[in-house]
Amino acid sequence: MSTSHDFDHEHDHDHDRHNAPPDPRLEHHLSPEQVHLLTERVEKIEALLVGKGFVDLATLEKFAATYENDIGPLNGARVVAKAWTDSAYKQRLLANATAAIAELGISGMQGEHMVVVENTPAIHNVVVCTLCSCYPWPVLGLPPTWSKMPAYRSRVAIDPRGVLREFGVEVPDASEVRVWDSSAEIRYMVLPERPPGTEHFGEEELATLVPRDAMIGVAKVQTPATER
Ligand code: FE
Repeated sequence: MSTSHDFDHEHDHDHDRHNAPPDPRLEHHLSPEQVHLLTERVEKIEALLVGKGFVDLATLEKFAATYENDIGPLNGARVVAKAWTDSAYKQRLLANATAAIAELGISGMQGEHMVVVENTPAIHNVVVCTLCSCYPWPVLGLPPTWSKMPAYRSRVAIDPRGVLREFGVEVPDASEVRVWDSSAEIRYMVLPERPPGTEHFGEEELATLVPRDAMIGVAKVQTPATER
């Protein structure tokens, strides 16, 4: 088990990167055979770990259910909405994200060292784990499949604007794109731009607008249709 990156690994070899399909959102493009192979691989690894007594199956299932059902991107959305409505909180968040996020009662494994980077008209931030699949679980829940795929991990580092375009985000040439590489030590989250037309929204209402992908940096927060 690696020490620099955690057990949510999806290790691959360098040659895989060159065979990566062009679309980073691979979860929509897996063939039934690929899904079968991946599932089989996961089941074999699980059986090995359980068989050798490294993990307990019941614990594993409880753990997965917790992150699937109870902990998800709404936690991150609450942090974003708070930062949008409370400038002092935003300053604390950008200065020490781990502590500011804990103020809202959110903390836990894979989120011990958080850094929040702010999107502005001049800077667009996007997050990846180029090595494997490090991800801020306490604020965003389980990582999306595409974020663990070589197609996203390698390409977003090489051609972030191109990958963002495929996600539907066009970053103007005048804006800078910054790519942040999460690791076991530091997990990044994006503070997206507050959309126009939401000035009268309260914190709770704002939180409902923030999709997971905006906190990874591959989407923008949209003004609700009725507010345009
Ligand atoms: Fe990783």
